[in-house]
Formats: sequence, structure tokens, C-alpha cells
Amino acid sequence: MPETVLKTTNLKAFYGDFQALFGIDFEIAMGETVAIIGANGAGKSTFLRTITGMLASGSKKADIEFLGRPVGGLPPHELVVCGMAMVPEGRRIFPSLTVEENLLAGAYARKGGNWDLDRVYELFPVLKERRHHGGIELSGGQLQMVAIGRALMSSPRLLLCDEVSLGLAPIIVRVIYQAIERIKAQGTTVVVVEQDINTALSVADRIYCFQEGRVSLTGRPGEVTREEISAAYFGLDKTEGAA
Ligand code: ATP
Repeated sequence: MPETVLKTTNLKAFYGDFQALFGIDFEIAMGETVAIIGANGAGKSTFLRTITGMLASGSKKADIEFLGRPVGGLPPHELVVCGMAMVPEGRRIFPSLTVEENLLAGAYARKGGNWDLDRVYELFPVLKERRHHGGIELSGGQLQMVAIGRALMSSPRLLLCDEVSLGLAPIIVRVIYQAIERIKAQGTTVVVVEQDINTALSVADRIYCFQEGRVSLTGRPGEVTREEISAAYFGLDKTEGAA
């Protein structure tokens, strides 16, 4: 059996009195790529924020296990040291720093792993060309590459990508997902949150569909039907979904 990298059990999350996650059971094994799909507001980003320690509202220590260790409630910087790295929605990079400075900032907490500047530049050659350019001089696709590269610089055991295709032209989305295929081929375990069902199905070994803070479907791309996905995604019953 491959080693479990991340496991959550009955994970809940709250924004004040508002409950956003209602008991998520999730598991990903070493080397696997899992896509989380779901409509706006389904709780996908909240799930990533909760496991990376950015939202510590409802999780008890044992609710989140990372590489066999209970980590619920640990702060984000400790989880980076453990080997978790997040590519946040919105490609947040430091705009006043150059591409290279942004990438090096990603290696701050965790050094000496299998990713370094040369490997990130090999993955995204355009970043090498633009390494002395500031964040404000980059296109949306290049900003996304920096955000992914910066996360890789900590040589994560688990890479969590939140809606990396959002707002990008289809040709750039293809470049980003080809890079994710290469990251995956090098053995990194990857979770992608993705609204586009076709993109999710093409990259993932397994999918989880979230609906209103709950897992509404899980399975392998070849084993779940379009009707099942539509029902789980939009909350339609099968008869409505087929209409
Ligand atoms: P999207 O694709 O729109 O980002 P999502 O599946 O990632 O959707 P979340 O952003 O996790 O969904 O939102 C889940 C629920 O939590 C939604 O009802 C949303 O309105 C609510 N929510 C998200 N962020 C906050 C916040 N900072 N304060 C209060 N409620 C929030």
C-alpha cells in the first residue's frame, strides 16, 4: 500500500458562526494527483485553507494527518517546514521583488530538497528569461508560473494548487497543466482545486466533488459518469441533470 500523505477525518470549518465545511473525509496517497471540483462556494478553498493552517476555526489536532502525524491547528509556517506548500488562488506574489527573489523566498523555510532554481527554470524557461523582472511586469500566466515555482522551491511532499487556471487563456492553462503533469511525473503528490471539470478529469488520478461543504462524490475519472458528476457538482438529481 502506498503511504498516505494527507488524511482528514470529519473535518469542519467555520467563519465565525457560519459553518463552511461539514465533516470532510479526504485521503491522498504518495505520488497521487487528486482534483477537488465543485461550484462557487462549495468549500474547496476553505478546505485548502484549513489543511494549510490558514483557517484554524474548527479542526482538532487529530482531524488532519500529514505523513502520519496529527497536524490540525498547526500554523502555516510549521506546515511548510513539514513539507506542505500551497499555490494560493489569485497568484499572490511579492510585486516589488523580481521573479528570482520571489522564487528564492519560497525556499526560505525548507532548503535542500529536490527542487531548486535550475529545476524551476527548466520547468518554466520563460521565468529564467524574465528572472530580473519585477512582479508587476509579468503576464497573468507568468505570475501563475512564479506562484507555482515559489511553492516548489520548498521541495514539498504535497503541493496544493488553488484554481491555477482561473482567468487564464486556454493556451496558458495548457502550459500550466503540462507543468503539473511534469511535477506529478517527478513524484510530487498534488492536489488541484479546479472549477473546470474537463481539466480536472484530464489531470487527476482521483476526484473529489464538493457541494455545500460536503463531499458529494469521489472516484476515478474513468469510473464516474458525467451524469454522476453533474449531479454531485450542481446538486441536481439524476433526472433533473439529464433533462
Ligand atoms: P470559489 O470557487 O468561489 O472560491 P469555493 O468552493 O472555494 O468557491 P469557499 O471560498 O471555500 O468556496 O467558500 C465556502 C463558503 O464559505 C461560501 O459560502 C463562502 O461564501 C464562505 N466564505 C468563504 N470565505 C469566507 C470568509 N472569509 N468569511 C466568511 N465566509 C466565507
